[in-house]
Amino acid sequence: MTLAEKVSAGLRDVPDFPKEGILFKDITPLLENPELFAEVIDALADRYKGKIDKIAGIESRGFIFGAPLAKELGVGFVLIRKPGKLPAEKIGVDYDLEYGSDRIEMHTSSIKKDERVLLIDDLLATGGTAAAAELLIEKCGGNLIEIAFLIELGFLKGSEKLKSDHHSILIL
Ligand code: AMP
Repeated sequence: MTLAEKVSAGLRDVPDFPKEGILFKDITPLLENPELFAEVIDALADRYKGKIDKIAGIESRGFIFGAPLAKELGVGFVLIRKPGKLPAEKIGVDYDLEYGSDRIEMHTSSIKKDERVLLIDDLLATGGTAAAAELLIEKCGGNLIEIAFLIELGFLKGSEKLKSDHHSILIL
């Protein structure tokens, strides 16, 4: 079984969540499977070892994958958060998402000029969130190496909104 097949088997589809017409990809069964969770982190660690200085995770499921990966690679972890959560000087970007609109923020001190950054989130849908996060990293002068996703909903063509390269373990 490939990692993509294992990830696919580790997801639970929840129809009409959080609103009608959305097929929600629930990653909690995968997280509850320690071997599979570790295999995902190990595969990402192999891909990015020696290539990055920092990992920026998108709240909240990007934190779940980004933090253990940062520990594994010995690099810093940066929080990209929903509005009003970060205490120090910050920058923000507003964006549209598959269900509604939102804003993300990052501390201005988190990423230094030319630092090599990996951006990570659990799922690429319309691409609005990741494109907004790209802009945050760009504004700080970071060198965005790649954006990693566990799952990409290919039919939504979110990747067309991204300026950087991206890597998805499972493309649906
Ligand atoms: P988007 O900005 O449309 O690419 O949406 C990406 C964000 O929304 C990610 O952080 C996902 O966690 C979440 N998301 C969007 N659509 C889904 C879905 N169908 N199932 C699970 N999470 C989703």
